[in-house]
Amino acid sequence: MNTKTNYSNKYLAIFFLLFSVLFLGQNKFIVVLDPGHGGHDHGAARKYDDIGYITEKDIVLDVTLQVGRMLEKEKDFKIIYTRKTDVYPTLTERTNLANRSKADLFISVHVNANTRTSPYGTETYVQGPDQNRTNLEVAKAENDVIFLDAKDRETFGSYDPKTPESLIALKIQQNRYLEASLKLGGFVEENFSKKDQRLSRGVKQMNLHVLRMNAMPSVLIEMGFISNYDEAHYLASSKGKEELAQSIYQAVISYKKAYDRKSGGNSTPLVEKTPEKPVEQPLKNDFRILLMSSQSKYEEGDPALKGLKYILTIKEGNLYKYYYATTNFASVRDSNLKTAKDAGFKNATSIGFLPNQSLTKGYYTLELEATKTRLSSNSHLLKTLKDQVTRTKDGGLFYYTYGNVKTLEKAVELQKDLEKKGIKGSVIQKLP
Ligand SMILES: [Zn+2]
Repeated sequence: MNTKTNYSNKYLAIFFLLFSVLFLGQNKFIVVLDPGHGGHDHGAARKYDDIGYITEKDIVLDVTLQVGRMLEKEKDFKIIYTRKTDVYPTLTERTNLANRSKADLFISVHVNANTRTSPYGTETYVQGPDQNRTNLEVAKAENDVIFLDAKDRETFGSYDPKTPESLIALKIQQNRYLEASLKLGGFVEENFSKKDQRLSRGVKQMNLHVLRMNAMPSVLIEMGFISNYDEAHYLASSKGKEELAQSIYQAVISYKKAYDRKSGGNSTPLVEKTPEKPVEQPLKNDFRILLMSSQSKYEEGDPALKGLKYILTIKEGNLYKYYYATTNFASVRDSNLKTAKDAGFKNATSIGFLPNQSLTKGYYTLELEATKTRLSSNSHLLKTLKDQVTRTKDGGLFYYTYGNVKTLEKAVELQKDLEKKGIKGSVIQKLP
């Protein structure tokens, strides 16, 4: 061999190396696996005498990790996890991760729950306007928190699927990825029913926040009802988890085959990827929309709040201030303000709150009750909180308050703790 060939061989080798790094690496089929909930957010949970306390966050993590391990063995796949441990990424973090990594598929894994114990079966959701109103109603009636974590519900409070802008955006999104998402959802449900002999409740379309922002085919899988005795035991068992993981894994493989067939083995995606948008940077402040100040106390659902949800009420002096949604993204803040104005709050303004800012004077407390008659010591409130409640009398009313904290965030936390104890309708009060 002369020197010349040696050189060309060397260059050829380098060329192939570069080629494989640059192109083959990029051509991997990227799947984002999103085990729902995590950390402080347990998702749906139930306690059974024989198997104890079981949570959605643990079940979905186990299953998702198994799916990932199987897919990682496939050489042309790249797997990205939104979480691999018991932590809680926000919805924004989950979708940003998926979009930034230019994934080909996004799979969110969940477990269903119902207030009744009888419903059971699996269902897979894809993003799309509700052509069938009953889907939304069923989902709402079954469990209105499964798709959106508490913080995200506040952040995305502005999102009203009924506004024309949202519908147009959804339709564009829908046309782009719906067919592919339905295909994957179909494979998943088919495996559950044919392979695992489960009841499939079908593939459904719904406006789901966790899927809405994704620029790729996406599904949300509800693997069964934790509220149903038999299904809870199946979901918690290693046999159940293994079957679930197998079925999801097989569905991804089938989907990838369909994708390869359509593109003739080339790397042309089944759907075109959108060019990456610059990621919006969060602002320093949290922004809430001040809807109005009023001497009257309104609870969520009161007509005075014009159908807006995710209201934070802060009482200052004798005025209740009603704030709507919270976000640290300028674009979301602006759309929240628009939603408030559209709803009829013409004077709504956005107010910045420095996160975790400690009051230099005064404190926050929770107003539990303002009533003309004294509460009996047998009342749920006094029995639950006992001597932690302060009673004051002012202008013919008895005021019952609880807690003394320095930041708004802590006050909100306190309020959530109370709600868990069944004490609802408390109002955060800022005292000088
Ligand atoms: Zn869930």
